Amino acid sequence: MGKATFSGGKLLVPDIVTIPYIEGDGVGAEITPASQAIIDKAIEKTYGGTKKIEWKEVLAGEKAYNITGTWLPEETMEAFREYLIGIKGPLTTPIGGGIRSLNVALRQKLDLYVCLRPVKWYKGVSSPVKEPQKVDMYIFRENTEDIYAGIEWNTGTPEAKKFLYFLQNEMGVDKVRFPESSSFGVKPVSKEGSQRLVKAAIEYAIKNNLPSVTLVHKGNIMKFTEGGFKNWGYELAETEFYGTTFSMVEYEHIRKTKGKESADKALAEAVNQGRIIIKDVIADAFLQNTLLSPEKYSVIATLNLNGDYISDQLAAMVGGIGIAPGSNINYKTGHAIFEATHGTAPDIAGKNIVNPSSLLLSGVMMLDHLGWKEAAELIENSLGKTFESAHATEDLARFMENSVSLGTTEFRDTVIKNL
Ligand code: NAD
Repeated sequence: MGKATFSGGKLLVPDIVTIPYIEGDGVGAEITPASQAIIDKAIEKTYGGTKKIEWKEVLAGEKAYNITGTWLPEETMEAFREYLIGIKGPLTTPIGGGIRSLNVALRQKLDLYVCLRPVKWYKGVSSPVKEPQKVDMYIFRENTEDIYAGIEWNTGTPEAKKFLYFLQNEMGVDKVRFPESSSFGVKPVSKEGSQRLVKAAIEYAIKNNLPSVTLVHKGNIMKFTEGGFKNWGYELAETEFYGTTFSMVEYEHIRKTKGKESADKALAEAVNQGRIIIKDVIADAFLQNTLLSPEKYSVIATLNLNGDYISDQLAAMVGGIGIAPGSNINYKTGHAIFEATHGTAPDIAGKNIVNPSSLLLSGVMMLDHLGWKEAAELIENSLGKTFESAHATEDLARFMENSVSLGTTEFRDTVIKNL
């Protein structure tokens, strides 16, 4: 069995590579085998047997709990640590257990600081926006900090009282509107955390020849956390990527010293030279702008909570969570877990109607990450062809004109036939 390794910042992938996978709860038992069958076929077709994935099942979620008595066994973590790259189906969130969310636990344990979600429209898929073909974005959501760090205390607890005491008596805070009944949460945002995320976003734009990176934030209100993210992002672009990027801070500097005409000229020149434009926008304006002029945006770098909202809105603009892929990556250690972005969909589990495209497209991202780009492209093209001919699972077919509604296994077979 071959293992992917990481050396000198580069991922080295043997021709026969072992990939640990979590089947996933609920619909996981349907989307995982369907996606694997398509991926295997595409690899076979592309490389004629010289490359292959050996799938290695590891347990998590309900299946793990039923077999081992734990939700996230240590062997599973060990496999992801050892094999670097993995893929997972959706997991039930344990209720009343020690783990808040298995997904968050996986991200934190492997320090998977980037949540990367590409958002792209496939011809034929129904969309609530007029020109979905203009939506082509790559969301880099910070995965380890922000209000998501889980540092919070419930109202009435001794911890909340102690925290309130500290705020009022040591920090001189008098702005807590209803002190006696408040719960509290802490929002840590660091320079290191922000810059490693923005660095990954800029490097992705360089590697994939993309025109811009937009820092999305609420720095107008949260000046040191969200505002810090923006400032540290610009600072990184100017120190580490000077010459490769052109930032709106540079633009402003020219505008103030030489006037608007010179600034516009410098910007136009930078675009002509293929430099990546680094800009920023306030999160609420961004959500509005993505509906009005999505073509303005390409790579998006943002903090954890903003990234959560943004991912769902953008996914809805191109067909919804059934086809939105995702991955969690640490670009410094090489660890990456690709995942379906939807949940376990218990209401449709076992009925052969679930759409496997979210996990399949996450598999496409994984192939791309492994450097097996030809196989990734083959699947994307086949999926595009399938949707364009209005063949889809019911979640999408019901909104398509003259559509053919397929069960999960029939959809799998059609995508394989179209490869
Ligand atoms: P959900 O995503 O499972 O379902 C929401 C709705 O979307 C349901 O009506 C479902 O039928 C539909 N849907 C979801 N995926 C679909 C697909 N691929 N094809 C067709 N329809 C699809 O969200 P939920 O109901 O809020 O959560 C159910 C469980 O999943 C909970 O335990 C939750 O904690 C968990 N969850 C896990 C993840 C994850 O592992 N990444 C993410 C979200 C929720």
